[in-house]
Amino acid sequence: MVLDIRMDDVVKLRKQHPCGSDEWRVVRLGADIGLKCLGCGRRILVPRSQLQRQIKAFISRGEPTQFPWAPEDKESGG
Ligand SMILES: [Zn+2]
Repeated sequence: MVLDIRMDDVVKLRKQHPCGSDEWRVVRLGADIGLKCLGCGRRILVPRSQLQRQIKAFISRGEPTQFPWAPEDKESGG
């Protein structure tokens, strides 16, 4: 199963950052997911497969957007 991660999601991870916060905002999507610590603002990259096991809960969800690697829907109009 592929975890549905969106830009601007705020997630709670099992592992706490040294600054004391365990909440992160998704700032980049790709094979690696970019996370920004809500405690200290530090950014990290976590492999998608690893992040799936790290997420304890979603605090809030971002807008549903298409993944950058997904094929675009091409409408044959006209
Ligand atoms: Zn931090």
